[in-house]
This record gives sequence, C-alpha cells and structure tokens, in this order.
Amino acid sequence: MPSKHALKSNLKLYSLIDTHAHLDELQNLDSTLDNAREKGIVAIIAVGSDYRSNIKTLEISQKYPSFVFPALGLHPWQLGEFNSSQVNGELEFIEQNISQAIAIGEIGLDYDKRVVKRASKEFQKEVLALFLELARKYDKPVSLHTRYAWRDGLQLVQDAGIAKAVFHWFTGFSSVLRDIINGGYYVSATPAAEYHEEHRRAVKETPMDKLLLETDCPVYYGRGTRYRSAPGDITRSLGAVAQLKRIDEAAVAEYTTRNAIEFFFLENVIASPHRHRKPPLSTRAPIVIASEAKQSQSPLNPGRRSNDNNKR
Ligand SMILES: [Zn+2]
Repeated sequence: MPSKHALKSNLKLYSLIDTHAHLDELQNLDSTLDNAREKGIVAIIAVGSDYRSNIKTLEISQKYPSFVFPALGLHPWQLGEFNSSQVNGELEFIEQNISQAIAIGEIGLDYDKRVVKRASKEFQKEVLALFLELARKYDKPVSLHTRYAWRDGLQLVQDAGIAKAVFHWFTGFSSVLRDIINGGYYVSATPAAEYHEEHRRAVKETPMDKLLLETDCPVYYGRGTRYRSAPGDITRSLGAVAQLKRIDEAAVAEYTTRNAIEFFFLENVIASPHRHRKPPLSTRAPIVIASEAKQSQSPLNPGRRSNDNNKR
C-alpha cells in the first residue's frame, strides 16, 4: 500500500476551504463530509438561510467541530412573507448565538424580478442594513448574495463600515468589482467558473489575494449534464481558477486557503490533520432559542423549497 504521502502527491491533494456551503440542505452528511476530507478540504463555512436553517447549521457545526464553522444569516429569498418583527426575531436569535458564529451570512440582496415581486428592493435593503449593523457590532465577516444588486450591495456594506465582506459567486460588472477590490473586499469562485462567462470574467479580474473558493452546495451546476454539488466539488472551483489565471493548482490552493484563514479568523481553530483535539469551548455552547425568534417562524414561512435549483 502506498504511504499517505505518496497517495497525497498522486492525487494532487491540496488543503482547501469551502467558504460557502448550505450543509443544512445536504443528505448523508457523514459520507459527504468524509468525501470532502478525502479531497483535501480542511474547513467548511456552513451558511444559514433563516431561523430553521441557522439552528440546523449550528447543530451540524457542533457535530463536526474544528471542521464545519457556522455563519448565521437570513437569505433575501426568505423575505417574501416576512414583516419587521419577524426580521427582528431572526436578528435576536443570531445575536444570542453570536459567540458561535464565525460570520454573518448568507445575507444580501436579490433584484431578480421574481424575488423583487415578493420582497421590494427597499425592504431588502432595510433588512440587509440591520444584519450589516449586527456584523459590525460584533466584528464579524459577512458572506453576501448580491444578484443583480451588486452596486447597492457594495454601497450598503461600505455605509455600514464593514471591514470584511465576500461577494459570493460574483457575476456583476467590472466597474463594481473594481470598487469591491479597492474597498478591500473579497470575491469567491464556484464551480460555475468552469463555464459561466460573467463569473469567469469576474474571477479573472480578481487579484489572487482577494479570491476565495466555494461550492454554494447543493446548487446544481453544469451545462448540458447537470450535477448536484457537494463540498468535494471545490476541486472544480480550484481547477477553473487555475485555468483562468494560468497558474498551477498548488498556487491557487495556497492563496485561497490562506485568504480564507485570514478572512474568517481560522488560524487557531482548524484541526490539524495530524492530531485530534477537543473543540474550542465556544463551539460546544448550547444553542439559545429566544421566544421572539420562535414566534418569527410563522406558518407563512415554511422554509426553503427543497427542489429549488437556482443560484443562491
Ligand atoms: Zn448560498
């Protein structure tokens, strides 16, 4: 049997971090995460979309300490049936569990007309401003969804005085991208960098020190043959970035993993592959469920549609 080291070099295994994954929407998590580890993933940032998703994301992160790190948020797609007091309930829940959150996300704006029909641009912006305020108060990085709302998203982030923001799966204009980079913010590349023109251009135009990798799993990717993604598909993001940047995968892995460690303050919390240790106390804290947050889960908001395959 080949030694671990030989196996490593044969498979071109790099240390990678999936910086945006909806683990609460995946099945067979044990085997999926084993597969992710086998592909070299050393950490996953699991993003929450609403109250139920945030709770599940916290539970998952407690089950896989030092490997899965929870971000708590409220996805703009969930705003359709929300009123202000429900938004406050979500904010309250996040604030009560803030010590466990590595970041705030997924939050953001979505100006696709089907989304705006359900939640106006003004309401989306109001809500995003509140979550950004929370992030700034606790000095948390933010993971942002900004489909067709790139300029407004950046504006709100800057107005809130946010130090660390990643514009995930960015497909916006080069002019906005330039301002994102100049503002010190980040962009993350998904497996769509293999084929999606706008995303490919954005990745190409983003300097390596501002680039992260992600999967946004379980999103479906692919032109022609489509596949349901998992964290292990981060190797597709890696390969696409290497090809677009014309540098080798090892360098892309090194840059993006170092960026992710700095961005999410992961330096001392990722488990070393060579030793096991107890998770930091904060990841084992109980999940706090406030009465108001419970109420915010109205029957009108049954959570994410399970068969929704769109970009998120
Ligand atoms: Zn997402």
